[in-house]
Amino acid sequence: QSAKPGGDTIFGKIIRGEIKTDFLYEDEQCVAFNDIAAQAPTHFLVVPKKPIVRLSDATESDEQLLGHLLVVAKKVAKEKGLDNGYRVTINDGPDGGQSVYHIHIHVMGGRQMGWPPG
Ligand code: 5GP
Repeated sequence: QSAKPGGDTIFGKIIRGEIKTDFLYEDEQCVAFNDIAAQAPTHFLVVPKKPIVRLSDATESDEQLLGHLLVVAKKVAKEKGLDNGYRVTINDGPDGGQSVYHIHIHVMGGRQMGWPPG
């Protein structure tokens, strides 16, 4: 784990304000912001300030935090007007397609999502 609060990935820099990003939501535990490479008309990320590397690394002590991320995801989705539904995704590790190793939840909506994902 990094000594710096927020960790050392690009998301750590965003959380610490080193990369200016408009937050859709912020509280003491997490932030939400639009994905820079949106895969849907609405695509935002919910990212805990605690720099858990990936879902595989989360522990029972993270249960409250992980649940909180989902509650924030649905609040922001409602604010964004995703009344027809949306896709919530966590990519874990190489096979999951994770590219930023600071755990985050994707929320995508505004179009019909396909299944299964590629
Ligand atoms: P992953 O592939 O790890 O599940 O998702 C990482 C996501 O972070 C990708 O969808 C990517 O577009 C997004 N991302 C990477 N760098 C940045 C950045 O600097 N700003 C924002 N807003 N999103 C980013």
